[in-house]
Amino acid sequence: PPEVLTLGETMVLLCAPGIGPLRHARSLDVAIGGAESNVAVGLTRLGVRTAWIGRVGDDEFGRLVRGTLAGEGVDVSYAVVDPAAPTGLMVKARRTSAATEVNYYRAGSAGSRLSPDDLPAGLADKVRLLHLTGITPALSESAYDTVEAALVSRGGAVTVSLDLNYRQALWPPAVAAPVLRGLVERCDVLFATEAEARLVLGDPRGPGASPLELGYALAALGPSQVVVKRGARGAVAVVDGVAYDAPVHQVDAVDPVGAGDAFAAGYLAELLAGADVLARLATAAASGAFAVTVHGDWEGLPRRDELALLQLLDADDAV
Ligand code: ATP
Repeated sequence: PPEVLTLGETMVLLCAPGIGPLRHARSLDVAIGGAESNVAVGLTRLGVRTAWIGRVGDDEFGRLVRGTLAGEGVDVSYAVVDPAAPTGLMVKARRTSAATEVNYYRAGSAGSRLSPDDLPAGLADKVRLLHLTGITPALSESAYDTVEAALVSRGGAVTVSLDLNYRQALWPPAVAAPVLRGLVERCDVLFATEAEARLVLGDPRGPGASPLELGYALAALGPSQVVVKRGARGAVAVVDGVAYDAPVHQVDAVDPVGAGDAFAAGYLAELLAGADVLARLATAAASGAFAVTVHGDWEGLPRRDELALLQLLDADDAV
């Protein structure tokens, strides 16, 4: 049986191989991506048995999503094929070498039709950890209901982790804030960027609040473990009332997308392995660093035996 259950929408990712306006691209690379399945792949590579639930269309893109995840060892046996809607698309273009733009073609997609019926009875009770994101409740009423159903059906011993993952294209801040706050109050492990923290907290401390102050304020809402992510500046954590700093690796970042998912996977894998907070943050930061060195949202995620490679890279930099 899986140790981790996650649910959400995974889409096909079409990506221009070169730089410039998309209309001048003569071809597009085909891959897949979705915040929750990115985390599932990351966990699987780190040795954690993980199941992903989501809907895909009865189309070639849907077969690509399921086949790719299955090939990575993610348990997709609970995923649903929905003949009534297509698999959603993400289109990624690089306007400059540093500026990546993602456009979504997902309204009405199979993934957005996720419904509470898609959750096998008793499954959320058997796993050790349930991983949710703030994307799923924004997809549709039924997807929102599915997140709620997963939270209600999970057993008392199941740890709930939540990555806020606020997506401006899906819902405005005023609609998202109370929903995300409601999820924060019911999770055990929370991942947030500084902007997401301010969205949930209503920014009572003003723009001058430090990442740690944001972390403590989020922890006051319920979660015993809060990580505030700061991109290339690293991350801070508040765990059981104690503050921690994550290490930062110097890498050549080519694609920032997916760093947050990688970070969550690294953190959760160590949590499940019984590692202490510093070890959780170390693997999280290493996974995030690996993710940004590779194009694609999850392809660069490390296996356990690769984590040490990063220390070698850091050592090279120090020379
Ligand atoms: P995403 O783009 O996936 O939404 P995010 O905004 O959720 O990412 P970030 O804060 O960008 O999350 O990144 C998560 C973690 O990954 C950081 O806390 C850091 O540990 C690592 N990371 C991100 N960018 C870099 C970088 N340029 N160099 C080294 N590590 C990085």
